[in-house]
Amino acid sequence: MFDLTGKVALITGGNGGIGLGMARGLAHAGARIVIAARNIEKSQAAVREIQALGVQALALPVDVTDSDSVEAMVTAAAEQCGRIDILVNNAGMSIRNPVQDLLPEQWRQVLETNLTGAFLCSRSVHPHMKRAGGGKVIHIGSMLSIFGAAYAPAYGASKGGIVALTKSMAVAWAKDRIQVNAILPGWIDTDLTRQARRHVPELHDRVLDRTPAGRWGEIDDLAGIAVFLSAPASDFVTGAAIPVDGGYSALG
Ligand code: NDP
Repeated sequence: MFDLTGKVALITGGNGGIGLGMARGLAHAGARIVIAARNIEKSQAAVREIQALGVQALALPVDVTDSDSVEAMVTAAAEQCGRIDILVNNAGMSIRNPVQDLLPEQWRQVLETNLTGAFLCSRSVHPHMKRAGGGKVIHIGSMLSIFGAAYAPAYGASKGGIVALTKSMAVAWAKDRIQVNAILPGWIDTDLTRQARRHVPELHDRVLDRTPAGRWGEIDDLAGIAVFLSAPASDFVTGAAIPVDGGYSALG
């Protein structure tokens, strides 16, 4: 039910943070891993770490905001691996500014990375999954898919959009036996949130106080859900947005 031997998983932004945590989980389940991000040295270091787990892995450069770059990366992944079964749309970033201070180009940069990037990767991967007889797409939302944050309107809009995109893709691609789901991580200790904690000093304690599990998440907390949503175990799960948040979103 959870065996990914023979499957190829493509993880955007898989060279660090949550993407690397999910890549490790998929590798443990036997999948061959493709790490796709801009910083190729960082990606190669992640590939070496994944290979040490005993699976094949490769790094490919991509800027998910650029449709030509995405198409070239997906073509290279399919040529070098022979197939693509799993796509994890994880690449993401944030620019923290309230609406009135957010510049239009900052808005566009966040939306293009977090939302348009997921769309571009999904549309490029679709023919390969269809040819393979099915597949799995995992989008990465956020607590800001559900809640508002004064300092993150573009990020929140992009992550709300991810949930809507998940549902539309799930409905459209069910007939192709492609399941499409979103993970909504709670607060996870990564470069992204280290930056946020520097910018919003009270954030660290606010998250701790509000998280029933009583801790920040670690990147390996995302490994299990990534395996479930990539494996035959989730073949009847599609269009869902699943919080992995230590209970953060359950607290009233
Ligand atoms: P990191 O900053 O550690 O990772 C972001 C990754 O995205 C990097 O690997 C980066 O690689 C890649 N990336 C960014 N922009 C692009 C681009 N234009 N093209 C290709 N790759 C890109 O952050 P996290 O691990 O925290 O974030 C991963 C995902 O999880 C994001 O979608 C984020 O929004 C989401 N998330 C994170 C939460 C958290 O608490 N940490 C909570 C909820 C959601 P490179 O720079 O090499 O391109």
